[in-house]
Amino acid sequence: MPLMNSWGTIDRRTLLHFSDAAIETFSQHIQFQDNDNEAGGILLGSVHGPHMLVDQATVPTEYDKRFRCLFERMPVGHETIAINRWTTSKGTIRYLGEWHTHPEDNPSPSSIDRAEWYQLAVKRRDKRPLLAVIVGRKSLYIEYVPSSGPSILLSPIS
Ligand SMILES: [Zn+2]
Repeated sequence: MPLMNSWGTIDRRTLLHFSDAAIETFSQHIQFQDNDNEAGGILLGSVHGPHMLVDQATVPTEYDKRFRCLFERMPVGHETIAINRWTTSKGTIRYLGEWHTHPEDNPSPSSIDRAEWYQLAVKRRDKRPLLAVIVGRKSLYIEYVPSSGPSILLSPIS
């Protein structure tokens, strides 16, 4: 089953679309094999009012620490890409959030994931919620994580 491009909140007031390139990056890192390690990166794209378009998902760098059930992102390589995209797009393409894989069919966040997402949301300079994506073997798990208040779950739009 292919991963879905279009997502939204239940009330459809906030829509999210992934480019084919971003979906392709997710698909290439799905943990199908027992010895596949977790992968991840950052999500870059544009903001349109409450809506977001994810243009690019960066791939793991040689500095990231990758294990079966843990992915620790080192900012260095991902941050350079984010700054390059920001400047060459004249500020249109910005940091939106993070993604990583889980060795589960239908993934759900760990308590470590939630703690990390919250910390990243607090750090955001534009005060927008963090876009948090987990790539499972059969589906994505997607949440908007604000720096205060409850997270908002997104579901696929077919
Ligand atoms: Zn996780």
